[in-house]
Amino acid sequence: MINVTKTYLPDINKYNKYTEQIFNSGWLTNNGELVQTLQKRLCEYLGVKNLLLVTNGTIALQIAYKLLGLSGQVITSPFSFVATTSSLVWENLKPVFADIDQATFNIDPENIAAKINKNTSAILPVHVFGNPCDVETIESIAKSYDLKVIYDAAHCFGVKYKGKSVLEYGDVSTISFHATKLFHTIEGGALIIRDDELYEKAKTLINFGLSNGDILNVGINAKMNEFSAAMGLCVLDDMEKIISERERVWKRYQEAFLGKLKLQKMNTDALLNHHYFPVVFSSTGCLLKTVEQLNKQQIFPRRYFYPSLDSVTYVPSEVKCEISNAIAGRILCLPIYVGLSTAEQDNIIKIITDNI
Ligand SMILES: *Cc1c(COP(=O)(O)O)cnc(C)c1O
Repeated sequence: MINVTKTYLPDINKYNKYTEQIFNSGWLTNNGELVQTLQKRLCEYLGVKNLLLVTNGTIALQIAYKLLGLSGQVITSPFSFVATTSSLVWENLKPVFADIDQATFNIDPENIAAKINKNTSAILPVHVFGNPCDVETIESIAKSYDLKVIYDAAHCFGVKYKGKSVLEYGDVSTISFHATKLFHTIEGGALIIRDDELYEKAKTLINFGLSNGDILNVGINAKMNEFSAAMGLCVLDDMEKIISERERVWKRYQEAFLGKLKLQKMNTDALLNHHYFPVVFSSTGCLLKTVEQLNKQQIFPRRYFYPSLDSVTYVPSEVKCEISNAIAGRILCLPIYVGLSTAEQDNIIKIITDNI
């Protein structure tokens, strides 16, 4: 069976050594040694200053909203994983959707300003499939209207923009370290926080609002445990291999489908991580027919992102985002992971080519 992704598992002996270390110390969570080590190594690897590990990418978003004191409405992209929107609703914030750009699949800055009103407190763009947004334009809009910016950078492990980590943009960027992501800690995530004081405050938010035994503010429990950190330390050792293997698969798809299917237009100022390979079919019918043929051979790509989040029932959305709905109805993410053989990939390419 071939799925859209396959969780990367590191050398089990290396993981077991960490497990023994955890058993010997008896320290399983609460900012343990491995969490601290991973946090430091990730800052170095990614080239970021203030990174805080948490239990998943969704709670990272929720903590970012609390940390920045958001209220009222937040302008966001309808073309994302459901957590981008549901985390806002969960925190009693109202998502207001600005439609995406049909080529990059990212929020179109031209659509943002029209959605701003006196109740708007922030912009929450998504670097879709690790493709950096137009960060300069978004920053200038935020500055002129005095809004916070949070990037859902769940897909951006190792992505650089103009030579600098894309995670350094916005007041906060959040990332997911779920098992299906490029780099993972089984479940996990992080916040990357621009302001040093807010970084210190975030450390209390993830730990019940506690600091040195005092209760400073309202908090939640979002602490990463040592077993997750151990997985992260093992996977981090293998990043070069993980990224180069995916790049090989990515380039083969690119060669096969360029000019035949609509592909995502990537930011030319970016160093990419080749996390996903999305293709857009000419119609939903063509997509469904192709998926059926792939499924017959036990190949299971994913309709990702689908549906467009402005159609989610718990978000009353006055105006439909036409471009997001049009792309969501026709997009498919193809299998891409370490260990996908060239023969397997060529079979996928053949089935798709025969159906378009
Ligand atoms: C995976 C993902 C999340 C959620 O991350 P979890 O770690 O699974 O909670 C949020 N946003 C996007 C765009 C994602 O792909």
